[in-house]
Amino acid sequence: MTDFLRLPSWEVQVVHESAAGYRVDATYTGQPTCCIKCGADDELYRHGTITQAINDTTHSGKPVVIDWARQRYRCRACGSTFLQPSPDINDRHLMTVRLVQHIEKGGLRRTYVAVAEEVGVSEGTVRNVFRAYAERMEADHVFEAPEVLGIDELHIRGRARCILTNIKDKVILDFLEDRTKDVVYRALLRLEQRERVQIVAMDMYRPYLTVQKAVFPKAIAVVDKFHIQRMASQSLDSLRKLVGKGVSRRRGAYIKRNRYVLLARPGTLTDAQKFLLDEWLTEIPALRSAYDLKEQFYDIWEVKGVTAAKKALYAWREAVQSANQTHLFKPLLTASANWEPEILNFFATAGVTNAFTEAMNRTLRDVDRAGRGYSFEALRVKALFSHGVVTKRRPARLGLERRDVSGMMAYRANTMGLRLPPMEMAVSLGIPLSTFAKALKERLT
Ligand SMILES: [Zn+2]
Repeated sequence: MTDFLRLPSWEVQVVHESAAGYRVDATYTGQPTCCIKCGADDELYRHGTITQAINDTTHSGKPVVIDWARQRYRCRACGSTFLQPSPDINDRHLMTVRLVQHIEKGGLRRTYVAVAEEVGVSEGTVRNVFRAYAERMEADHVFEAPEVLGIDELHIRGRARCILTNIKDKVILDFLEDRTKDVVYRALLRLEQRERVQIVAMDMYRPYLTVQKAVFPKAIAVVDKFHIQRMASQSLDSLRKLVGKGVSRRRGAYIKRNRYVLLARPGTLTDAQKFLLDEWLTEIPALRSAYDLKEQFYDIWEVKGVTAAKKALYAWREAVQSANQTHLFKPLLTASANWEPEILNFFATAGVTNAFTEAMNRTLRDVDRAGRGYSFEALRVKALFSHGVVTKRRPARLGLERRDVSGMMAYRANTMGLRLPPMEMAVSLGIPLSTFAKALKERLT
């Protein structure tokens, strides 16, 4: 009976068993030797007890609550009072440390509701415990700002989630529940050494640009070419739908099924597909004209340099006008005007794209079916923090070390005339794509 809790230094007085679970009257035998407020030794005296209900891990599959008769103390030196401390108890959540750990692990694998039912606490309590865990993990995983930052979307459960990537090193920096300005802003401020960021590749989404200008004012914003090029294919596809309505249903369905031949670049088509494409374009002149405009738009990215690119973009706009396709390409005309500087910045930089994130979106497209009931927070923690991170060793620059004790020691040693190899420090770069995708797949399927 006394070992019901299996916690050293705890004494169990009574165990009450009911259908709902166990309630255990217990005391903790460890006593503080000094004041936890002022540190004075031998100045404490007991000052009554209070009984607190502490949730614990299950026993024989049933929830356990410890009714802890907890000692109060008063300090003669500073006059403060405090409760008996115990390393077995988490005071923030009023549960045993082992229950907190159980909930943290459980929350990564199961729904909060399932974990809550198992251990006999509310779903809200499980959420609070998990949130504290997520905050701790976040504080432990601070990534270095990359030279080339990608801000992009991942579509999970019918919503666009924001993903931050280090494009050069191909790692994930963060994964955010939504893409509002505040959420993205806070995530960017978590990155270390933000002055490193030179280029930010993004989708055409105004809040991204606002946040980039606030956090990395010196960086160059580049519109991701895949996002804007895709709009040309979408315009063509809307014409394809119109054409489909004007022909027999069977023919329309056939064209729809094979629309890839229209939307893809001709270079990627098989001979059979090229034949099909030729047939349609000859048969339907409106499609031919729109197809050529789509191709002309993609071809802008083949030119070198901002001046040539700008000329190509303007030529494309004129071609749309003279082909009377303004209506069809309206969304693209608008976007290319609103984002013209950022589109042209592609040509001023080494041609940065979010191809990396696009690849991931494709990988995850079929994954996101089940998994309802899991919180985004748990998904994020699992995807980002439950496996290893990529680190890199970088020479420590004197005066720039952050909380890097070994680097400072080396500096002192050097000033004493000792020859030491230049110090390096490990920086955390982010999460490998494979790890991230695997975690999401495990969680979502
Ligand atoms: Zn004191």
